[in-house]
Amino acid sequence: MMKRLIVDMDGVLADACAHFAAYDERETGRRKTPAEFTGKPEFTAFPGARQYAGSAGFFRTAPLIADSQKVLEQLNQRYELYIVSSATEFPLSLAEKVAWLAEHFPFISWRRIVLCGSKQIVRGDVMIDDHFGNLDFFEGRTLLFTQPHNLHAPDGRHERVHTWNDVARLLL
Ligand SMILES: [Mg+2]
Repeated sequence: MMKRLIVDMDGVLADACAHFAAYDERETGRRKTPAEFTGKPEFTAFPGARQYAGSAGFFRTAPLIADSQKVLEQLNQRYELYIVSSATEFPLSLAEKVAWLAEHFPFISWRRIVLCGSKQIVRGDVMIDDHFGNLDFFEGRTLLFTQPHNLHAPDGRHERVHTWNDVARLLL
């Protein structure tokens, strides 16, 4: 039986941090340096982040994280792959995330897309996520995807991956 793989969207497939930085720059007229947001929660590092995330178009136009398409397509052959994303906090994100996935990851069926609130009810064999708040509750193997907000945090019981090529090395 194939193992069930749970993959997050923001900070794993979609470069949410770069997107927040771009919105922040548009508003303030100045691009924040990595030193200004590394190690901080995104909603602290970018004061307008909740407003950006709640605005139409934010999730639909998010940039991709490098190599995510290539590696995820390979993982989809070998795992029972589900995209599991917290989305209900920002209701406009639901339709936008479905459209974004259809554009960039057309090989993922709607049946394998789970948009939710808390991920604490999620069960599977492997989870890839950038937030401890999701990984810490997961009973299977946990891969912590490096993002500026978690860069300085201890890995704990999780296996840290910096890139999708790191994921490929561990899971393919
Ligand atoms: Mg995330």
